[in-house]
Amino acid sequence: ALDGKIGPSNIDSVVKHMPLCMSQLHTTLRQKNHLKHDGRFQYGLFIKGLGFSVDEALQFWREAFKVTDDKFNKEYQYNILHNYGLKGSGKNYAPKDCKSIIANNPPANSELVHGCPYRSLRPEELVGRLKNMGIEDRMELNKITDQVKNTNYHGACTRVLELTHPGLKVEEVVQHPNDYFLKGYGWQN
Ligand code: SF4
Repeated sequence: ALDGKIGPSNIDSVVKHMPLCMSQLHTTLRQKNHLKHDGRFQYGLFIKGLGFSVDEALQFWREAFKVTDDKFNKEYQYNILHNYGLKGSGKNYAPKDCKSIIANNPPANSELVHGCPYRSLRPEELVGRLKNMGIEDRMELNKITDQVKNTNYHGACTRVLELTHPGLKVEEVVQHPNDYFLKGYGWQN
């Protein structure tokens, strides 16, 4: 659907359309020039879903990690090729949906980066992130944290999509990070 419009050269300009699970991976990658394995897997499949070819993915990660080509080829290249079904089992992995991100392999305390932040962050941390996304309204913040308390992570995330894209009305709750992105990006482009 994105027809190759998004690639390594402009991904930073569309972070505002990403759900929090992916924008926090992107931001951490930019801050640390690194992501741990689970984060690389989650974010790597997400950008594949945005239309990154395998060559664009290799370019993106190589530039992001700022390591020598030798180190990159030895330590990271394999997993990226693997995501595209070009190594290992040959399985061409699809970007993960919310259900599997929420259910599988929740992050340990020391690495609250992959997974679903609505599930894994403490309420005050979540509110801090939401404020960084421009959501300041106390009533809205309370409604979102109430949804999270009731384990309605999809509902909370859907409301955040609407609030960060004024005028957008989302009929069905978000079930997939790439679907979240398409709705928000499509609304403003
Ligand atoms: Fe990501 Fe889905 Fe969680 Fe939203 S509900 S942050 S899209 S995993």
